[in-house]
Amino acid sequence: MSKKDVTKVILSEEDIPKKWYNILADMPNKPAPYFSSMTNEIATSEELQAIFPIELIKQETTTDRWIDIPNEVWEMYRHWRPSPLYRAKGLEKMLGTPARIYYKYEGTNATGSHKLNTSIPQAYYNKASGIKRLATETGAGQWGSALSLACNHFGLECTVYMVKVSYGQKPYRRSFMQTFGANVIPSPSDLTQCGKSILQKDPDCTGSLGIAISEAVEDAATHKDTNYALGSVLNHVCMHQTIIGLEAKKQLEVLDEYPDVIFACCGGGSNFAGISFPFVMDKLNGKNIRLVGVEPTACPTLTKGVFAYDYGDTAKVGPIAKMYTLGHDFVPAGIHAGGLRYHGESPIVSQLYHDKIVEAVAYGQKVVFEAALMFSKSEGIIPAPESSHAIRAAIDEALKCKESGQSKVILFNLSGHGYFDMAAYDNYFSEKLVDIEYSDDSIKESIKNLPDIKE
Ligand SMILES: *Cc1c(COP(=O)(O)O)cnc(C)c1O
Repeated sequence: MSKKDVTKVILSEEDIPKKWYNILADMPNKPAPYFSSMTNEIATSEELQAIFPIELIKQETTTDRWIDIPNEVWEMYRHWRPSPLYRAKGLEKMLGTPARIYYKYEGTNATGSHKLNTSIPQAYYNKASGIKRLATETGAGQWGSALSLACNHFGLECTVYMVKVSYGQKPYRRSFMQTFGANVIPSPSDLTQCGKSILQKDPDCTGSLGIAISEAVEDAATHKDTNYALGSVLNHVCMHQTIIGLEAKKQLEVLDEYPDVIFACCGGGSNFAGISFPFVMDKLNGKNIRLVGVEPTACPTLTKGVFAYDYGDTAKVGPIAKMYTLGHDFVPAGIHAGGLRYHGESPIVSQLYHDKIVEAVAYGQKVVFEAALMFSKSEGIIPAPESSHAIRAAIDEALKCKESGQSKVILFNLSGHGYFDMAAYDNYFSEKLVDIEYSDDSIKESIKNLPDIKE
């Protein structure tokens, strides 16, 4: 049996990394600083401390390459990490490709996605700084689930503003959060000024991620014992996720393998960052490897957005970041990959994309669900609609290898399972899914309202 003839590689608990990798140490151009939406000047640490604990603010800007994972966090990681790395033998066979396809599966924890990798340290640092409650938003429900579990573990209260349309559509995600003691509020709500003013204009507003973020940030900023937590985009979130790529690298080393190309879906960029940054480090040191983020055509932040300063939320209460954006007024179509419907993108991923160190592609949801079914049937795991974007791109690469006869090594991140998303699959089966292209005109319209920042 050859070394590479494996179905999965599971490392032991001692192989769980003890440090996160901080790509700020190695980037040729660092991301631009955050600006305050109050002053239009660079945001000060004091301003950020109204909503974040000091340790996480430090993690936003430190250029130390390796950051120690606190013991309490590592002990929690032991519950499901290292996560398995699979060889997609069934999928390879179905495609008849000479490529070797591997995937890292982040859906094995209770919440079913990679987001628990960062919710645990975020809850930990907030608890350690004396905070009593965290406020956050959730769209599809995965982030709310992950933060609820982490808050429950560290003895924090948790308030989740859930986009109203999802609150109705995904009742079991709501029950999941309630199981861990969270207070789940449909957004827009009448509990915040932002929520109230939106409801006054439009009482039937079904909400958006941008609005829910505004509500959660306002809640945190107006209560001393409460902080805000974000499940993607920010530098510290991307760093916590590097545990994925660090493990994957070790697992491939066991097989004497190194990837030619890595794919991950891109919403705010955190799971893409997680699997790819430890390999971006190699690329910056001269390795030949491609890193590709995969987004929906309905929310094409990297492939069609602009690289500019923009607000992170609708009511302009949170910090301003330089990133690829479709404009903070952008309300994406109701596609099923709820986790990929954010108007912005991680400032680090944006800078790397701008500097042509990483790449991006976009797909419509029909071919994405076709890929999801091929994967389910050949591998026996039903993928999240978000993750299925990465699967689509990996399949297309494997089919190219079939044409050219090249046996490339393909790695993708399976960021989560789809067991709470069966309604989306139902829509696919009953042919209710449509492909949505976000038009260039509407992009031009929404980027008219970018903030005026003088660098
Ligand atoms: C939230 C989520 C995403 C998108 O978020 P990123 O920050 O881009 O990783 C992707 N996949 C799953 C399963 C998610 O829950």
